[in-house]
Amino acid sequence: MTSPGARAKVRPVTEAIPMLDLDAQHRPILAEIKAAMDAVIQSQAFIMGPEVGEFEAQIASYLGVKHAIGCANGSDALVLALNALGVGPGDEVITTTFSFFATAGAVARVGADPVFVDIDPRTFNLDPRLVEAKITPKTKAIIPVHLFGQMTPMAELLPIAQRHGLKVIEDAAQAIGSKEGERFAGNFGDIGTLSFFPSKNLGCFGDGGMVVTNDDGWADKLKRLRVHGTGKERYYYDMVGLNSRLDTIQAAVLKVKLPHLEAWHRGRMKSADHYDRLLAEVPEVVRPYRVPGMRHIFNQYTIRVPRREEFLNRMKAEKIGAAVYYPLSLHLQKCFANVGGKIGDCPHSEKASAEVVSIPIYGELSDAQRERVVSVIKQHVRA
Ligand SMILES: *Cc1c(COP(=O)(O)O)cnc(C)c1O
Repeated sequence: MTSPGARAKVRPVTEAIPMLDLDAQHRPILAEIKAAMDAVIQSQAFIMGPEVGEFEAQIASYLGVKHAIGCANGSDALVLALNALGVGPGDEVITTTFSFFATAGAVARVGADPVFVDIDPRTFNLDPRLVEAKITPKTKAIIPVHLFGQMTPMAELLPIAQRHGLKVIEDAAQAIGSKEGERFAGNFGDIGTLSFFPSKNLGCFGDGGMVVTNDDGWADKLKRLRVHGTGKERYYYDMVGLNSRLDTIQAAVLKVKLPHLEAWHRGRMKSADHYDRLLAEVPEVVRPYRVPGMRHIFNQYTIRVPRREEFLNRMKAEKIGAAVYYPLSLHLQKCFANVGGKIGDCPHSEKASAEVVSIPIYGELSDAQRERVVSVIKQHVRA
């Protein structure tokens, strides 16, 4: 028998706070999602069923772009975009060194060389002021990445691209719904790419991606490239493409989810505002910088903390999600050794990769959960 006094000494059970809780997001719409998936199973139209075109039209309307073309994932979206723009062996593509691997991976996949540029340390995005020095006669395109949900300043980048006749592909995998001024990410460059990987702001039940453009010619080429490069007539080919379609079942899931996206964005922004207020009392931590005139949709809430490894251990012990995006700059990855990157080339990115941590940011977090995350951060910096 335990006395009430003894029980009071037991440490209260603290709930885990995962990095991402999709169950909380799905619960209210799960019956609708399952019905939509069931309908696809009934129809047997698994490849390019009507839901694909319907979802493409919805995304085009949401972003205000003329064409949206579904594909298998956000990495293929980049490859398709590079193929459509004719980037290939012997070409150079300027991009950020601080991104998910796929951005530079796609450049290498089409046989071109990535040329890495350092970041603005406040936003973690490519610094447009560093681009011009990297342009050579081989440069074909620039791929800015709108990292963590905030855009690379296109008002600064686009004039540089125009001046040098370079194509621009926006990697908006983490930035569906972010804006510069009143315009959505993906709507500035020649082609924009999206990912519906489950951890993005709009995620499906597996892999999914999309390419967006306002150009009729490239849209036509992209649609053919995603089905092996097929011509006007079936089984006749005048270019070599991929097999990279958005599954009908994923399109059906995404069609149910899209109407909720703006509310989910608002939930993440509210979470971010709350963290900002709580962390204002912790000067040792660098909070996310928000560029005036931009809409940050907080795919990640990324801070800088002192003694990061120790912090990660503490978060793990407290069962609170924390993740490092990204621990090694792309110019230092072994697979890009051929383009000759070395330590010291991109000091802001190298420093960021040693200091950044992303913490749980989804809108379904409660005030109490965010307060607990910040109390653990406080314990760490004061330890
Ligand atoms: C997720 C992501 C991709 C790739 O998307 P997948 O759908 O996983 O292939 C590309 N670029 C960035 C910046 C990403 O975050």
